[in-house]
Amino acid sequence: MANKTQATNLTGRFALLLAAGLTALCIGGCKKPTVTPRTKLPLLIGDDGAPIIRVLLTPRAVGAADLSAGEGVRVIADGKIRVPGRPGTSPVALIRRSGGLWMAGNTAFRAARVIVETIDNRDDRYVGFNAKSYRGRLHLVPNGPNGFIVVNYVNFEDYLAGVLSKELFPGWHIEAYRSLAVAARTFALHHMLHNRRSREYDLDNTVASQVYGGRSAETAKSRHAVDSTPGWTLTVNYKGKNRVFMPQYSSCCGGWVNAAVVLRDAPPIEPLRGGQKCLHCTSSKRYRWAPVRVLKTELYALLARNHASVKSLGGLSTIRVTQRLAHGRPVWVDIVGVNGKTARLRAEKIRLALIFGGSVAGKKLYSMNCQIVDAGPYIEFRDGRGFGHGVGMCQYGLQGKALAGWKASQIINFYYPGANIVRIY
Ligand SMILES: [Zn+2]
Repeated sequence: MANKTQATNLTGRFALLLAAGLTALCIGGCKKPTVTPRTKLPLLIGDDGAPIIRVLLTPRAVGAADLSAGEGVRVIADGKIRVPGRPGTSPVALIRRSGGLWMAGNTAFRAARVIVETIDNRDDRYVGFNAKSYRGRLHLVPNGPNGFIVVNYVNFEDYLAGVLSKELFPGWHIEAYRSLAVAARTFALHHMLHNRRSREYDLDNTVASQVYGGRSAETAKSRHAVDSTPGWTLTVNYKGKNRVFMPQYSSCCGGWVNAAVVLRDAPPIEPLRGGQKCLHCTSSKRYRWAPVRVLKTELYALLARNHASVKSLGGLSTIRVTQRLAHGRPVWVDIVGVNGKTARLRAEKIRLALIFGGSVAGKKLYSMNCQIVDAGPYIEFRDGRGFGHGVGMCQYGLQGKALAGWKASQIINFYYPGANIVRIY
């Protein structure tokens, strides 16, 4: 697929894999073992030698955290134990912060950071936060004078066991779980490599990254899927180096896998080119959906909020698709203004503007795998297919393929052709 936008920003979202002694598993169809550079991955390593990931549990700053779901927790502030733990019970039910002062039970103190951990030595030890349990530790980081954010520092594999069960249905096939374990691990690793220096966390726990429910969400199936793909990560050979790429996934592709360019200026690598015919996601209720009409005035207002180029149009006259993928999915559109000028946007921005703008009509615009038609005062989105962006793995497709007898390695090779599966730790 010729596409000029693919040639830009080659390194923006594309991490160099710098692992020492990687084991190339070559189960995705590669012919020769992958040779990898002998440099270290810049990862945070925990007490047990496993990589640690930092997951944001609070979408915005909070004033208090309920820790009562934990056992034997202690509170450490700037390296000092402020509240010692006792086996079995949680001496601190609530931590608050107000006027720059922390309150843990009856103990008040000032600190740049608070860590909550358990003194329990059991294998399944955990801490509690707002009625859920989480493995690893909680880091409470001040945000404003009266608030803080809560970040779960957790072993990478434990994190994944709390993701898969939130991203897939409980009754789905183990090979669907194992396929997603490899993609989800790679997705998280890519974020870790990019965000480490710039933020207090690597990922959040929502659909904006990957949904994560901690230890409370783990199931025997999610655990088994993670344990049977230990450290397996996707890489691609690009410019002579083995690199981790961002393997996005979504609910239902609607029949064709989209190129990553529908979302971003992705590097021109084989695993993200899309174009595969996905025959296995027809069981999704969103495989096909009814036309959606949105008033031009509403669409203009919502797009203008985030796009100055649209705001300057003074109103929306019509929308023209300027570029499509081979199977017809719009990639770029021109928003034509009432003043005759145009603003070019990725088609995906229309859906995002409607979702984040709280549009009632827009809630039924399940994807931009559709035709965009001028219908007088409305823009109509018709021939709708699939749910989500449709790039990379299609979750309903994983299940359909697993039920048809495909193994995880075959499924991964279908959705990310040309990718290697390597063991990174
Ligand atoms: Zn599909």
